[in-house]
Amino acid sequence: MVSRVIPVDAFDLVIFGGTGDLAKRKILPGLYRRFMAGQMTENSRIIGAARADLNDDSFRALVGEAIEEFVPKDRQDAKIIAQFLEKIAYVSIDATGEGGWAKLRGMMREGVVRAFYFSVAPSLFGAIAERLHLNEIADAQSRIVVEKPFGRDLASAKALNAVLAKHFTEAQIYRIDHYLGKETVQNLMAVRFANILFEPLWKAEYVDHVQITVAETVSVDGRGAYYDKSGAMRDMVQNHMMQLLCLIAMEPPYHFDPDAVRDEKLKVIRALDPVKPEHIVRGQYNAGGGEGSYIEHSEDPSSKTESYIALKVKVSNWRWQGTPFYLRTGKRLRARASEIAITFKEPPHSIFDDASGWRENVLVIRLQPNEGMELQVMIKEPGPGGMRLMQVPLDMSFAAALGDEADDVPDAYERLIMDVIRGNQTLFMRGDEVEAAWAWTDPLIQGWEARGDKPQGYDPGSSGPEDALMLMHRDGRRWREIKG
Ligand code: NAP
Repeated sequence: MVSRVIPVDAFDLVIFGGTGDLAKRKILPGLYRRFMAGQMTENSRIIGAARADLNDDSFRALVGEAIEEFVPKDRQDAKIIAQFLEKIAYVSIDATGEGGWAKLRGMMREGVVRAFYFSVAPSLFGAIAERLHLNEIADAQSRIVVEKPFGRDLASAKALNAVLAKHFTEAQIYRIDHYLGKETVQNLMAVRFANILFEPLWKAEYVDHVQITVAETVSVDGRGAYYDKSGAMRDMVQNHMMQLLCLIAMEPPYHFDPDAVRDEKLKVIRALDPVKPEHIVRGQYNAGGGEGSYIEHSEDPSSKTESYIALKVKVSNWRWQGTPFYLRTGKRLRARASEIAITFKEPPHSIFDDASGWRENVLVIRLQPNEGMELQVMIKEPGPGGMRLMQVPLDMSFAAALGDEADDVPDAYERLIMDVIRGNQTLFMRGDEVEAAWAWTDPLIQGWEARGDKPQGYDPGSSGPEDALMLMHRDGRRWREIKG
């Protein structure tokens, strides 16, 4: 019922940063799974590139270990792993030096897709793009894949775009936001645009409000000093949550085509109003549960960086006039859970008594855990007790609906890398989209920095700071429970 696997064209994929954490945890295991599924063809190759003095064999050993560690045991097949490792090579290259590039050029084959994954710090993007160009390693059909963070403000995002644009066209640049590769996120588009049921109601007239939650239980311990330079707004809202908001709020594109979809997302970002200070709540987790506080983890006693943020966002266009979007994300919260909940308005007239127990219809799209969808509907409470209403969920978990085949659904990175090879940019952010997102984000950050706002403390295992509850209560609404 699920994956009809369509093999992609043969490719040479060079992973700069091939020995790094992201390559080991996501990119290489993901490629193995696509090879196992028959989507990566025999004639394809993966070339790791980093400064480390490795050779093909020692890099293959590293890839083998990564598969052992990060691919579920029941998907590890010694024979297939051995075949996969045959496709792997290594070249030692310093992004900022001149050695190794001629060797890499010699390794490139004609007649296959050439893709270059920049899984390195963004400060190296320019150096790599330039050397790929100068050494004639990349051709006009080549693709480059770049990782987040894509800038830390509008100026740095523009500078990154400019550096890449020197040697590559926009059609060659794939900016990854792995949220867009998630099955459920793509399902958002299917639910909205492949069903007649929801779209007529998808507007301020019928939608009371939308809640988008990305809650984590983990702290920033061990990477606090690094995290402290970004915070929840830059790390989560500007990219991932903005993308979710766009998919919920956008107009139907004329076609499921990369630029048509991205044009509509861009219009949403441009329609976002500046957020008023009283509609922003920032928090830092307190110590508790045997762990230190955010301040201890950040190693800066005066840190004002947020590990939690809640925002009330207004999309200023005809469709959404009067429907607020509430966004919240944070670390050390009650459960690891991401969801989008669309709460509909009351029916215009009730034929039932006030005491009949009416509650709103809510469409919940769960990203994790237990990916799926749930529609809260009213039914009659069973039994002879008169017409009393109760709310029940029409609940669909993808795992239950798809059975064993759900295990074969590619994870976000696998899907996105295959899209790069296919040349499909629909699920990647365009340069103007990223810049528009920063143009909205920058003044908010500058505002709280100028005011010297201090984040409010919240307890680990809670659902965030008190003021975030008030943000909703003031509007006569409440956050949904964060449930794992
Ligand atoms: P990492 O573990 O620090 O790995 C960095 C990689 O870059 C290593 O392979 C390193 O190998 C290589 N490298 C460093 N300097 C180099 C140079 N001058 N020339 C060539 N290669 C060089 O970092 P990571 O966590 O994998 O992250 C990579 C990128 O992905 C970053 O932009 C990060 O923000 C982004 N990202 C990571 C994650 C994640 O979960 N890890 C998630 C989202 C985005 P050598 O030292 O041997 O050169």
